[in-house]
Amino acid sequence: MRIDLHTHSAASDGTESPAAVVRAAKAAGLDVVALTDHDTTSGWAEARVAAREVGIRLVEGIELSCVRQGRSVHLLAYLPDPEDAGLRAAMARVIDERNARVPEIVERLRERGVDVSVADVLAQAGASAAAGRPHVADALVRAGVSADRSAAFTDWLNPGRPGYVHRGGIDLAEGIALVRAAGGAPVIAHPWGRGSRSVLGAEDFAALIDVGLVGIEVDHQDHPPAARAELRRIAEDLGLVRTGSSDHHGAGKVDHDLGVNTTEVAEFERLLAAAVRNAASRS
Ligand code: AMP
Ligand code: ZN
Ligand code: FE
Ligand code: FE
Repeated sequence: MRIDLHTHSAASDGTESPAAVVRAAKAAGLDVVALTDHDTTSGWAEARVAAREVGIRLVEGIELSCVRQGRSVHLLAYLPDPEDAGLRAAMARVIDERNARVPEIVERLRERGVDVSVADVLAQAGASAAAGRPHVADALVRAGVSADRSAAFTDWLNPGRPGYVHRGGIDLAEGIALVRAAGGAPVIAHPWGRGSRSVLGAEDFAALIDVGLVGIEVDHQDHPPAARAELRRIAEDLGLVRTGSSDHHGAGKVDHDLGVNTTEVAEFERLLAAAVRNAASRS
């Protein structure tokens, strides 16, 4: 059984429709796929229909934009109630912040002589609920300024580059509590990807378990082998569920093909059990 628990569609910053992601997951030989768009559940309904059609198990998820001590942390939420008022309010806040940031990024780029407009970025964002740096990157590619998304991040959009504008988010501990209260299972996405090791040290995970953390994403393309080994040991020591996923974004991210990392069946079952427990304990 092959299980991939982290993918993005055009409902956030992937390049394929939710149905296309699900069909591609089936074609890639997966038995279970989670759709985890950034800060939105708007792709779920379409993905569900496609999953029924092609015969694959869909796990509904979200990747919530959180912050801890001013630094960005992504939190995966599996099977939360999408109608939960607290969760919905938090997502709406993040989406507003995301959309408000676009004009600021564009302004900074224009100051550097880059000819892009807010309209260009929104055209790239299309059906996405959450406009963000990936769509600015797409606009830069479209304008011939950058060769691809990755180059646009390196040259313009990463922290320290001219177009970088910090984005707020949900406090991480609050996010974990919110997901739990919404009957979902919270899992920290790529905890040590892209230099984020200084944001969450080995000693921080235990404290997050106290607020309801269920798991950590161990096998992810942004984790070199040594980080995977260490995170795996931490998960085992602390009893955290250990996931592995592609973080597929369609053509938006190279080297993140569906199924490139997978989650073990036993770990998936523990994750589902945690979601069931959290759903049962809702007041
Ligand atoms: P934002 O939330 O708007 O700050 O954008 C973050 C998103 O940009 C995440 O989904 C990342 O997957 C994506 N991202 C970050 N760095 C890169 C990169 N170097 N190449 C492609 N996508 C990236
Ligand atoms: Zn993304
Ligand atoms: Fe992420
Ligand atoms: Fe992601």
